[in-house]
Amino acid sequence: MKKERNTKQKKVILDALIAMGHPTAQELFDYLHEQNPTLSRATVFRVLSQFAESGHIRKITMTGSDARFDATMKPHAHMLCVNCGTVQDAFVKDFDVALCTDELHGFKIYSAELNYLGCCKNCSGNS
Ligand SMILES: [Zn+2]
Ligand SMILES: [Zn+2]
Repeated sequence: MKKERNTKQKKVILDALIAMGHPTAQELFDYLHEQNPTLSRATVFRVLSQFAESGHIRKITMTGSDARFDATMKPHAHMLCVNCGTVQDAFVKDFDVALCTDELHGFKIYSAELNYLGCCKNCSGNS
């Protein structure tokens, strides 16, 4: 029985992550807690780090923000609005074409963390 409950909890957490985009663990917990008062903060944090370790989701580290989680595994960069904190995806063809290929010294890139800081459309429209 316990195993079934765990599987259900994991699905609930993963679905919420997909719906939210790039939440921090705390934001995800706040969101889930409304519909699932029995779901504990410790469970949400544990499941997120298990998913990140097993490569199901990505953990994104950003300057000036807590770690965020992302269910999109396709290589992409992130654009962070310094005003409202919104995070949006920016898809890139290949991380190595963004670099000078000569400078790679034969290094093969598997993944990259690329974050752009700036101002989103909503915020720049208001100024
Ligand atoms: Zn903004
Ligand atoms: Zn993303």
